[in-house]
Amino acid sequence: MKNNAKLIILSGPSGSGKGTILSKVREKIEISYSVSATTRKPREGEVDGVNYHFLTKDEFESRIKNGELLEYTTYCDNYYGTLKSEVESKLAQGKDVVLEIEVIGAMNAKKIFPDALMIFILPPSEEILENRLRRRNTEDEETLSKRIFEAKRELEYSKFYDYTIINDELDEAVEEFVNIVNKEKTQNI
Ligand code: 5GP
Repeated sequence: MKNNAKLIILSGPSGSGKGTILSKVREKIEISYSVSATTRKPREGEVDGVNYHFLTKDEFESRIKNGELLEYTTYCDNYYGTLKSEVESKLAQGKDVVLEIEVIGAMNAKKIFPDALMIFILPPSEEILENRLRRRNTEDEETLSKRIFEAKRELEYSKFYDYTIINDELDEAVEEFVNIVNKEKTQNI
């Protein structure tokens, strides 16, 4: 039997709502989530091994050295990366896997998995994005400014993705995402 498992690469600037969309999508269709590694400190409520594998800089760098990362990058002064162990065995078992990652990592992952389905979440406007980031209030002022800068830079990459979804209305964005995955899956049978 042909393994029809799909790797889905999901990007969108911080504040685009991609995490919220993804959790709603995963209530509707079965997609495994690749838990990334990061050196960022956990936010309130985040759980090690669930939201991220929270590592020290030394731990992260030794994983790079051991070839354990599929892709990694630095973002706002921290390392973020996809562990091979989170992805390869799940795909081999026929499970669809989603990587929720920023744009540079996404471009690198696409080189390794050229058949990956790439989806980009756009905010309704840059102004709304900035307001969302400010309202979220999880970062100090310096990090917030960096995130706003990064967010605007990331928007430039949306043209490299197979699909862009505007997160204007959450339920509609979720439905659009589900339809895209279902369509792509049936095309590949
Ligand atoms: P946050 O700190 O808000 O959780 O994540 C910051 C950015 O890093 C987000 O755009 C998120 O998608 C991205 N990110 C999370 N995990 C990874 C990863 O494994 N690799 C890459 N390249 N980016 C990641």
